[in-house]
Amino acid sequence: AQKTAAQETASVTLPANLRISNPDRIVDPQTGTTKIALVRYYALVAPLMMPHLKDRPMAMVRAPDGIEGQLFFQKHLDRYKMAGVVQLDPAIFPGHPPMVKMQAAEGLLSAAQMNVVEVHTWNGTVPAIARPDRMTFDIDPGEGVSWAQIQEAAMLVRTLLQELALPVFLKTSGGKGLHLVVPLKKQFDWDTVKDFSKAVVDHLARTLPDRFVAKSGASNRVGRIFIDYLRNGYGATTVCAWSARARPGLGISVPARWDELKSLKGGAHWTVLTVHERLADGNAPWADYEKSRTALAAAMKKLGFTP
Ligand code: ATP
Ligand code: MN
Ligand code: MN
Repeated sequence: AQKTAAQETASVTLPANLRISNPDRIVDPQTGTTKIALVRYYALVAPLMMPHLKDRPMAMVRAPDGIEGQLFFQKHLDRYKMAGVVQLDPAIFPGHPPMVKMQAAEGLLSAAQMNVVEVHTWNGTVPAIARPDRMTFDIDPGEGVSWAQIQEAAMLVRTLLQELALPVFLKTSGGKGLHLVVPLKKQFDWDTVKDFSKAVVDHLARTLPDRFVAKSGASNRVGRIFIDYLRNGYGATTVCAWSARARPGLGISVPARWDELKSLKGGAHWTVLTVHERLADGNAPWADYEKSRTALAAAMKKLGFTP
């Protein structure tokens, strides 16, 4: 028989030495999800999530009073020590406290104990932090934009990237939209990758002006889509695959196959409560990700972009 979500997460074994305070505190009033259920969620997805966290500076969203309370976007440890979360060389961001990374799966659990709900990562890895290893396009439904338009926009971005012979992988954001990720060889610096991603978005806005706008800002955007390339700047972050979101319903960010796009119901197609439907697929939709890493030079030339 199919296990229910509650049975699925209840069967997750937590480390014997893990201490969770206020385990029954409600994190998401809409679903009644408790802190301990979220800890179990992270224990469940840790093996799937760790490859996406490896060597990346990260930021965390804490919700100490639940997701309807104040949220804290946290890039440093500050006074919170979390076993399995380690500080990086402060030279990555001079003049700031050290950035952090997830060193071990244990870190996901100690973060959840500290009321972390979301984990976001940079587009680059340490020690080669000067050269990003991926490019991200964030597809957001603005006012007056339907989910069908988002699905179509994702297809159009994919088509352009394919014409440029770039690989592109799809994930749900766990929120409202979709994230498209291009795995890169570590070759160009951040500004070059960001400028190139802007050139891709500008090209789309020029060729399909009824669908896309090149500028952010709500006013010129009604009914049209701004493909957000600003996730490609130094220090910018995007929610990590398998992270939960601090929004009602606790959507999760999940790697998906392109042929699934049509069947997705929204950015929160999968949630903490329905993750069991997706565990068997795991990261399989992105199986080709590592071997797809591409150099950008040919695509730059094709698009007429000069670094
Ligand atoms: P959706 O699909 O709903 O658009 P999303 O993950 O694409 O979801 P947001 O949840 O709006 O978009 O997140 C915006 C991005 O800005 C996040 O990826 C996060 O890394 C970053 N961010 C969020 N809050 C802060 C903050 N307080 N300071 C700096 N960066 C932040
Ligand atoms: Mn978005
Ligand atoms: Mn955005």
